[in-house]
Amino acid sequence: MQNATYRELEARWKSLRRSRDDVAVREVACVNAPRTMLCVEIGNPALPCIALSAGVHGDEPAGPAALLRLAQTDALDRRYAYRIWPCTNPSGYDARTRESVDGLDVNRTFGRGGESPEARAIVTSNRNRKFALSIDLHEDSDAAGFYCYEYGGAELGAAVVAALDRAGLPVEPLVALDLGSPLALHVMTFQRGRITADPRAEGALAGGLSYSLLLARGAAARVLTHETPGAHAWDTRLSMHEIAVKAAIDALSQGFHK
Ligand SMILES: [Zn+2]
Repeated sequence: MQNATYRELEARWKSLRRSRDDVAVREVACVNAPRTMLCVEIGNPALPCIALSAGVHGDEPAGPAALLRLAQTDALDRRYAYRIWPCTNPSGYDARTRESVDGLDVNRTFGRGGESPEARAIVTSNRNRKFALSIDLHEDSDAAGFYCYEYGGAELGAAVVAALDRAGLPVEPLVALDLGSPLALHVMTFQRGRITADPRAEGALAGGLSYSLLLARGAAARVLTHETPGAHAWDTRLSMHEIAVKAAIDALSQGFHK
């Protein structure tokens, strides 16, 4: 799946419908753009819902591959329902670029109802939905290990880091990592493998609202952004994402959010 095209990714998700009757896969139109985006629902809609997403940066392919494998292997806890956006920047994914074909960093366009065709499609479709947890999967080519951002005052991120430690996978110390702005130090709190911040202060800093920050402002009670080290081996990054998502959901179910 490392070099799959968006169409191939889409075909694999659609084929999941044949194996399970509680999987719905549909294509959501990106208004004013010649492309669609996959939206997947898994599980009983009466259950509390977890939002999973990946691929908003097209040059971070392990996230979309990990979400697909979690679904294919039935590794998602059935005590929850899932709304999954398997790849939220299809044109960037195919071109292996951070930006979309429009030259936009889609993950800075989630303000004002969506300022890119992709963000608009997601914001519109997610309207009125509430989530117990949201996880967005990314990669960071400068990182030496896994780390996460956590919003909502929970402790799920600490459980995620502990799970990676148990698996013997590298965790980013977050000491030397350059996050692009010295201002970040005033807004964010850095621990080993985990960054916490006030979503409003961070949104003002970033110069455009990210998907996770938008959800942290009301739609999701707990929000995680996971980052795997993009320079590591493919299988390692895939395992990291799978372990991290499962650990976060486990922690949620065990009440680590108090
Ligand atoms: Zn990213």
